[in-house]
Amino acid sequence: MPAKIIDGKAVAESVRAALQTRVAALAARGIRPGLAAILAGADPASRLYVRNKVRACGEAGLHSEVHEFPEPACENALRERIAKLNGDRRIHGILVQLPLPGKLDASRVLAAIAPAKDADGFHAESLGALVQGRPGFVPGTPAGVMALIEHAGVPIAGRHAVIVGRSTIAGKPAALLLLQRDATVTICHSKTPDLAAVTRQADILVAAAGRAKLITAGMVKPGACVIDVGINRGADGKLAGDVDFDSVQDVAGWITPVPGGVGPMTVAMLLVNTVKAAEQTLG
Ligand code: NDP
Repeated sequence: MPAKIIDGKAVAESVRAALQTRVAALAARGIRPGLAAILAGADPASRLYVRNKVRACGEAGLHSEVHEFPEPACENALRERIAKLNGDRRIHGILVQLPLPGKLDASRVLAAIAPAKDADGFHAESLGALVQGRPGFVPGTPAGVMALIEHAGVPIAGRHAVIVGRSTIAGKPAALLLLQRDATVTICHSKTPDLAAVTRQADILVAAAGRAKLITAGMVKPGACVIDVGINRGADGKLAGDVDFDSVQDVAGWITPVPGGVGPMTVAMLLVNTVKAAEQTLG
């Protein structure tokens, strides 16, 4: 039987719909959640991502603004702008679109964001809270991964979750969130010798490697839940995930498509974090 397709667009839509009540409650108290995006350089993918986030804010009734820094962007200029936004009462969430161009040090720039406004959850304080199991802002992509698994009703506790990729924005936080939910977690990376031998043990397989169609049918345990974080643009301009969807859907129990899987969830969870930040200003 082919896998059940987890529709990220539909789940993201329901997350956004649920947010409307919270946005209305804030409006009743004179607060419109606001997100500021720092966009440095001219990378077309980064510009597209920021455009999508701004559009999503508008659709959800959030204020948003983009602060652009043409190349060569200077680290101090970014940090100074962030410091201003930290003190701006109209702005509740601040994100720095990654990757930053040139030699800009992302961790130093991210450190300038006030932790209370860390809408992307990449500040060391937010990541530390995640490691310690304290409440805080969780990065949108792994939060979206969890929401998709939960929506599908896939059991997590006691199951073996395998994450392919160990980046700070996707793989590592996804692993921590699955661990928090009592999964037994294995993280794979480019130096893992026999990737297929590990992925075949996964009840939940999260692919976040940035390698088109890395995960093929023979690497998946029958009935597994396969979540594809990857977004890879082929020479033909088409998007492909890290999972070979056509073959894997015959083996997996659940699968997310690309596009229309994790991508829409990442944006929805950014809105959730921005609204949460606005709510927290009420004490
Ligand atoms: P990074 O390049 O930062 O990390 C990739 C990770 O995958 C690394 O840990 C790397 O290992 C590992 N890896 C690479 N090749 C292999 C391989 N052949 N076998 C096993 N592991 C491998 O990427 P990101 O985490 O930023 O992004 C991953 C993918 O997710 C990309 O396609 C990106 O576009 C997408 N993405 C999608 C989002 C969404 O909203 N859907 C949001 C964020 C990212 P090592 O550490 O050893 O180098």
